[in-house]
Amino acid sequence: MTIKLTNSDFDAALREGKLMGLKCGCGGILCPPRGVCPRCASTDLEVIQLSGKGKIASYTTLFVAAEGRDQELPYALALVALDEGPYLVGRIETACPDKLTMSIIGQPVTVGHGIFKGDKYSAGDAAYPAFRLVE
Ligand SMILES: [Zn+2]
Repeated sequence: MTIKLTNSDFDAALREGKLMGLKCGCGGILCPPRGVCPRCASTDLEVIQLSGKGKIASYTTLFVAAEGRDQELPYALALVALDEGPYLVGRIETACPDKLTMSIIGQPVTVGHGIFKGDKYSAGDAAYPAFRLVE
């Protein structure tokens, strides 16, 4: 099986402000990248650029960090329903993550990115999706 959109490709595009995904012949859109369509199990996937737009479906604020990441607290993670269909998890860019309320559910967002610093559990730094609320 040939991986058409690797995690490394996804990471590099995100750093350039592009959200990449995959389109299957069945109509399924995949993001983040996978090797197989979850709807029909096809591996015949086409790389596409997504709009980076969506709406917050759910969120949570974290007050307990993974080892070595205490300085990042608190931060908020959102589950975003992208306009093209798939759901994507990423941080919410806000100065006050502990002040967010349920009122952000359904609010439109656009995707940007942040950078995780590498640690002893990773192979180096990596980009992650970071969503901005659209005013
Ligand atoms: Zn499919």
